Amino acid sequence: MVWAGRVWEPPKLADHCRTCGEALAVHEASGRALYPVVIPLLALLVFSALRVDDIWRLPLWVYPVVWGPASALLVGLAVRATRAAVLAARVAPRGQR
Ligand SMILES: [Zn+2]
Repeated sequence: MVWAGRVWEPPKLADHCRTCGEALAVHEASGRALYPVVIPLLALLVFSALRVDDIWRLPLWVYPVVWGPASALLVGLAVRATRAAVLAARVAPRGQR
């Protein structure tokens, strides 16, 4: 298991691999390394919310109830996928030697 914490918590790499002891947390993408993923995703969410508002006139309370959790879920999944990809790119080639 490369993740610390529960699946619903923000994605964070474990300090070390439980099997081989490889340091994992040092490979965690964070801060500016996540901008190329998170900023386009947030822009997509904003434009999606605007488009949904054009198509269906939903009551105002629906927006925070739907888009709040949806945004948190999608950004969490995107960060998890990005961190997994960065970890795979940095650690896997060394493991194959
Ligand atoms: Zn390992």
